[in-house]
Amino acid sequence: MRRDPVTAFIALGANLGDARQSVEDALQALARLPDTRVSARSRLYRTAPHEATGPDFINAVARIETGLNAPALLDALQAIEHAAGRERPYVNAPRTLDLDILLYGDARIDSPRLTVPHPRMQGRAFVLHPLADVAPERVSAAELQAVQGQPIKPIEGQRP
Ligand code: AMP
Repeated sequence: MRRDPVTAFIALGANLGDARQSVEDALQALARLPDTRVSARSRLYRTAPHEATGPDFINAVARIETGLNAPALLDALQAIEHAAGRERPYVNAPRTLDLDILLYGDARIDSPRLTVPHPRMQGRAFVLHPLADVAPERVSAAELQAVQGQPIKPIEGQRP
C-alpha cells in the first residue's frame, strides 16, 4: 500500500566552487527524487562559516512532500551529495554540498545514522532563517533572537 506523503524539511548548504549553482542544482535534484515534490523553497542566504572553514556558505531550506521513508530519503540525499562531488577530508571541511533532514513530519528518530529533528538545528542562523521562510510556524521569535549575533543575509534580487 502506498503511504501518504510526509512533509519534510531539508537544509541545503555549499561553500566550494559555484556554491549558489550547487544549491540550485540540489533543489532540482530534490524535485527529481521518486515519489517526491518540492512544495516550497526558501530564499538563498549567504553566511560566514560556522564551526567550519573556507569561503562563505550559501544556505537554503526546501519543504518537500515525499513518499520515501526517512532512511530512504537520507540515502537519496547522500546520493545527491556524492553526485555533487563532495569530499570530506576531515570533519567540517569545506563542502561542495551538504544536505540534512531537519524535520520529517512529526517523527522523532534516534538511530545510528539518523537523528530527527536534526540535533544541530537550534542555534544556527543559517538553518533557522531559511526554515522560517518556508515554515514560520516551526521557528519561534525566541529562537531567531538567540541567533541574532550570527551574520547572515539573503542574497539580493530574489523574490521574497
Ligand atoms: P554531515 O557531515 O553533517 O553531512 O553529517 C552526515 C552524517 O550525519 C551522516 O553519516 C548521517 O548518517 C548523519 N545524520 C544523522 N542525522 C542526520 C539528519 N537528520 N540528516 C542528515 N544526516 C544525518
